Amino acid sequence: MLRSVILAAARSNRVERLVETAPVSRSIVRRFIAGEHADDALQRTRELAADGLAVTIDYLGEDTANPQQAEATRDEYLKILDALHAAELTPAAEVSLKLSALGQLFDEKVAYEHARAICAKASEAGTTVTLDAEDHTTTDSTLEVLARLRAEFPTTGAVVQAYLRRTEADCRELAVAGSRVRLCKGAYKEPESVAYQTRLDVDKSYVRCLNVLMAGAGYPMAATHDPRLIGIGEDRAKWYERTPDEFEFQMLYGVRPEEQLRLARLGYTVRVYLPYGTQWYAYMMRRLAERPANVAFLARALRSR
Ligand code: FAD
Repeated sequence: MLRSVILAAARSNRVERLVETAPVSRSIVRRFIAGEHADDALQRTRELAADGLAVTIDYLGEDTANPQQAEATRDEYLKILDALHAAELTPAAEVSLKLSALGQLFDEKVAYEHARAICAKASEAGTTVTLDAEDHTTTDSTLEVLARLRAEFPTTGAVVQAYLRRTEADCRELAVAGSRVRLCKGAYKEPESVAYQTRLDVDKSYVRCLNVLMAGAGYPMAATHDPRLIGIGEDRAKWYERTPDEFEFQMLYGVRPEEQLRLARLGYTVRVYLPYGTQWYAYMMRRLAERPANVAFLARALRSR
């Protein structure tokens, strides 16, 4: 219930204005986000890499309705990829992008062209790109764009969401040689017609999808902070005799950082999803929805208005 309310607020311009200007928001934002500028993301990437962690950088923004904004997002990705290359942070750092920030909502072709330019730059920089998964109305379009990109840039990564009923079948399609697939639970508010609604059903789906990916020929990326699912990930990797370079764990910046380090010290590849930019509102609201304890911060932020 609380999760639904927060996720609905994530799409409200009124609540966005209220939260963005509340003083305490800044401290919550600092916990989950590298900073506003590319230099902040570079600095955090250096620090994470020094701790033995891999990184995927996300330039914040989504649901863009404006072609100039989509171009600006593409250009920011080109800039950060050049900077990562110059700082010798590739291939340890890659980038994650949302097609809706590149124009998917108004023209899928535009989003594809921008994503293609970013993949070409990533390839020049010696790294790669992963396409984030957004709400279910975009899934078919995103997987179509992914297939086109993979024809030219085979390492382009997919993201699948265990809460969607379709995802186990998508995993079967995607678990092929050379295919990088991030499996997450899913962060949006979705209707029962397309998504499992209970935590138990989502977790069971996550395990079924993980089994398919670990048994397949691709490169699974288990994105979760859930201790039980991380344990199952370790177990399945052993069962399918995958060495540490044949799968990875992924977690969000600011969430369970001690667990990220623990897994890295055990020899696993751990990639941290590192967002930066000024458009942090929707991203931060999804993080709050994942953990009721974080909501106390938000309530305080709003009361202080
Ligand atoms: P949960 O059951 O939510 O959490 C398990 C435990 O982890 C909690 O009990 C708590 O201890 C800890 N925890 C989890 N979240 C938080 C938090 N915010 N603050 C503090 N502690 C927390 N979703 C998409 O829809 N599309 C994507 O492209 C996408 N990419 C992702 C990339 C990465 C690397 C990761 C890690 C997640 C991504 N997600 C994405 C988000 C994902 O779908 C979940 O919403 C999120 O990871 C929470 O699910 P969980 O598996 O961690 O399990």
